[in-house]
Amino acid sequence: MLRYIQGGTRGQEEDADDEQPATSSSGTHQPQPACRSLDSTTVPSLDQPHSISSLGTEDACSINMVRTVAVIGAGPSGLTSIKSCLEEGLEPTCFESSEDIGGLWRFKEVSEPNRASIYRSLTINTSKELLSYSDFPIPADYPNYMHHSRVLQYFRLYAEHFKLLQHICFQTTVQSVRQRPDFSHSGQWEVVTENSEGEKETHIFDSVIICSGHYTYPHLPLKDFPGQQ
Ligand SMILES: Cc1cc2nc3c(=O)[nH]c(=O)nc-3n(C[C@H](O)[C@H](O)[C@H](O)COP(=O)(O)OP(=O)(O)OC[C@H]3O[C@@H](n4cnc5c(N)ncnc54)[C@H](O)[C@@H]3O)c2cc1C
Repeated sequence: MLRYIQGGTRGQEEDADDEQPATSSSGTHQPQPACRSLDSTTVPSLDQPHSISSLGTEDACSINMVRTVAVIGAGPSGLTSIKSCLEEGLEPTCFESSEDIGGLWRFKEVSEPNRASIYRSLTINTSKELLSYSDFPIPADYPNYMHHSRVLQYFRLYAEHFKLLQHICFQTTVQSVRQRPDFSHSGQWEVVTENSEGEKETHIFDSVIICSGHYTYPHLPLKDFPGQQ
């Protein structure tokens, strides 16, 4: 089913008091899906959706007052994008294809399709002073060069502190982003998502921030090396 949704998080903001903790008492993260329908007008299937690429927000910003923002990905970049949008009084809705935050820093023993992976022994090679978000220092008792599990824990603390989880739709993959037919007037984007049950929805946003990472699909400059396959 394809549904059409205008705007971002108005429905979710009503749920602010229901926010789930980032970590349960057992230490297991249990994100609650924040996505739900705000409207359900059926529209025809989208033909030839554009693939995700780097889309600037400047055009939309200069055309119209930006209010709703789609953030694609809930890794370190997506989390801080949500937080920055909130600081500016915008309404971010983050779509995260997996079931949890952290992006690359959520280690899985078995690699998953369409997901980049770090390795079990990985210790970060940037010091915590350099890595830290400028307004949320890494706890003093964390080591200077942290194991990946500590890095993920830091992102959980960050998301919890700034109440970011309620703005994230987990297990929701962005399939395409394209300009609306009236983009020259509205500056708006159509974002098509698919949830874990295969349900597709089309959302309208004033702006899009792409934080989908860059390690999942290799970019190999083979054409620059004649003879290489
Ligand atoms: C082995 C390794 C070691 C590294 N070591 C360091 C280090 O020491 N220091 C350092 O600073 N950096 C390091 N990095 C770099 C790392 O990329 C960044 O630290 C950081 O993870 C980038 O964050 P991000 O949010 O941009 O992307 P990611 O962490 O990749 O997160 C992207 C998120 O977007 C989601 N997503 C992707 N596509 C979609 C879609 N279509 N719809 C919805 N969700 C989507 C993914 O599920 C994921 O959660 C390392 C990377 C690797 C691979």
